[in-house]
Amino acid sequence: RAKEEGRNNFQFFVPEMNFRVDLLFSMEKDLRLALERGELFLQYQPQADLASGTLSGVEALIRWDHPVKGQVSPAEFIPVAEETGQIVAIGEWVLRTACSQMAEWRKTGMHDLTIAVNLSIRQLRQPDLAELIKSVLLETGLDARHLELEITEGIMMGDNQAAFRFLSEMQDLGVQLSIDDFGTGFSSLNYLKQMPVNKLKIDQSFIRDIETDEGDAAIIRSIISLGHRLNLRVIAEGVETQEQLDFLRIRGCDEIQGYFYSRPLLAEDFMRFVKAPPRLN
Ligand code: C2E
Ligand code: MG
Ligand code: MG
Ligand code: MG
Repeated sequence: RAKEEGRNNFQFFVPEMNFRVDLLFSMEKDLRLALERGELFLQYQPQADLASGTLSGVEALIRWDHPVKGQVSPAEFIPVAEETGQIVAIGEWVLRTACSQMAEWRKTGMHDLTIAVNLSIRQLRQPDLAELIKSVLLETGLDARHLELEITEGIMMGDNQAAFRFLSEMQDLGVQLSIDDFGTGFSSLNYLKQMPVNKLKIDQSFIRDIETDEGDAAIIRSIISLGHRLNLRVIAEGVETQEQLDFLRIRGCDEIQGYFYSRPLLAEDFMRFVKAPPRLN
């Protein structure tokens, strides 16, 4: 705890830190306005099942259209929102928007798809998160088994009793759980064995040089067999080429997500995508 606070404290004010604090404050203000003014929106990135070659789900990814700066990457503003605590309000907006979008799509007859929503550690530390999720499902009419929550390995650091309870409660409801960016954190295999989750998402950093980097190839093979031995599904993210896809398919990876199949899409473009999704072979 002290260590964690030590990393982002603003106690010693050297000029560079003043600059950083200014940036943080202006971003905080802009983010507050962004929520109020509706500058945030979601894109949906399709995921494909490799056994059938067909669409299996989508991941909701937040976007920010800043009035002056234009598109700001979540890689830039999500860490700020986590630091300021705004991720709690933003995350609630994401959850509600994603669930109501999927509920609407299902009404139009869209077949069995799950919608995956990213959760930050900070949201997971909110004691009422389970209640929020239940009420969003109820409000939107989305069946729990069509919602997937993406968490990172960091969830097991800190109060992992609370984390276990939350994950178990979600699983009992029928919500799917996946571990995002798998392989980049420091989760112990002992925790992994006990964690109530359904899926491992291999981090895209391992996929990039799959054909040339023997170390990455070995890690991918190991994650797939580890996942399968623990009865988990395995999805690879950041798949950009047919060669990467072939490598993953031969090694038994269950699903892929990445530019090769589709970029993240606006809701209306996803509607079009669904009518004629590419078939992977
Ligand atoms: P992530 O959850 O691991 O999402 C995957 C990222 O990889 C997305 O970046 C996606 O656009 C990108 N991507 C997908 N396919 C490819 C590919 O083939 N090649 C490459 N190079 N990249 C690909 P994005 O949308 O910029 O999001 C970055 C991160 O921001 C996410 O990583 C996630 O950690 C966070 N994030 C995004 N939306 C949310 C949200 O609603 N809530 C929270 N808490 N975090 C979010
Ligand atoms: Mg994700
Ligand atoms: Mg991901
Ligand atoms: Mg990831």
